[in-house]
Amino acid sequence: MFKALVVEKDAETGKTSAAVKQIGVEDLPAGEVLVAVDYSTVNYKDGLCVGPGGGLVRNYPHVPGIDFAGVVEESSDARYKPGDKVVLTGWRVGEAHWGGYAQKARVKADWLVPLPEGLDTRQAMAVGTAGFTAMLAVMALEDHGLTPEKGEVLVTGAAGGVGSVATAILAKLGYQVAGVTGRPETEDYLKGLGATRIVAREELAETVKRPLEAETWAGCVDAVGGAMLARVLGQMKYGGSVAAVGLAGGAGLPATVVPFLLRGVNLLGIDSVMQPYDNRVRAWARIARDLPMDKLEAMVQPATLEDLPQLGADILKGQVKGRVVVDVN
Ligand code: NDP
Repeated sequence: MFKALVVEKDAETGKTSAAVKQIGVEDLPAGEVLVAVDYSTVNYKDGLCVGPGGGLVRNYPHVPGIDFAGVVEESSDARYKPGDKVVLTGWRVGEAHWGGYAQKARVKADWLVPLPEGLDTRQAMAVGTAGFTAMLAVMALEDHGLTPEKGEVLVTGAAGGVGSVATAILAKLGYQVAGVTGRPETEDYLKGLGATRIVAREELAETVKRPLEAETWAGCVDAVGGAMLARVLGQMKYGGSVAAVGLAGGAGLPATVVPFLLRGVNLLGIDSVMQPYDNRVRAWARIARDLPMDKLEAMVQPATLEDLPQLGADILKGQVKGRVVVDVN
């Protein structure tokens, strides 16, 4: 038997509740690889899945946790053997499939990535889906021509998970990074990660009044979406790109097409869930190389399985700073 955070749904009221329980290996879903989980983390989607489900969870009882890192215990797939260190993000694990909020997880071999040289399982979850996605966003901006000489790069939702990792990576790569935050008290934290300018959320909160504003940003990693993304599009420099990662501020996009037509601005969609294997390996290798581990450590807030119901509620309110690392053992 081992520990897992199990979410159950009351058949009469339809309400869900989450609690740490003992379950057995035979309870786990089918899969080729059994992993002894070391660490998991807390993402916005985890907040939804630990709580009411947000339409993401198909069946109850459910074990959430959209990402984890650990050590292979059993494998019927030739690519993995006992003792291999692995990381998993995406593929709807923790939503449609049981996830990482347990001491063991059984998953498809195709969903795993070998841990890159230079990262341990705790660091891999300090990065987690948020940091992995931040790396994908930076790679997409680079693939569209962004270099440090082009000018300042904006990171929205900067004190959150995606934003914190994006800020640290961009600063390490030599970019001038402006971080947008609604929490002025995080200024020292963001400057410690390498941000050179702090932009107050209110400055970008208003909806678009003029389709084009002063050309300010050479690139942007956007975790917020909504009205803020619309404003940022109108502030991009000629030919600049925005990597659209998240919707912490809303799923709508009250924008005009003018920045695309008159300034050749690019809006790049970033999806971490169905990302092909080769690009996953490329992104994890880049993380091991381009994310300073001391900066990563400064983002970490440690937690246990028992803390997850509260942390799930906190992240839905935008109240988690940096990256939570959940020690499931
Ligand atoms: P966090 O909650 O850690 O960070 C989000 C940050 O956005 C907050 O910390 C806050 O930053 C800011 N924010 C929150 N609410 C608002 C608001 N109403 N208006 C403006 N800013 C706001 O989440 P993550 O960093 O883990 O994820 C960020 C987003 O990216 C989420 O929407 C998530 O679902 C999405 N995501 C998408 C992925 C993909 O594959 N495309 C993968 C991973 C995440 P501050 O306090 O600094 O203002």
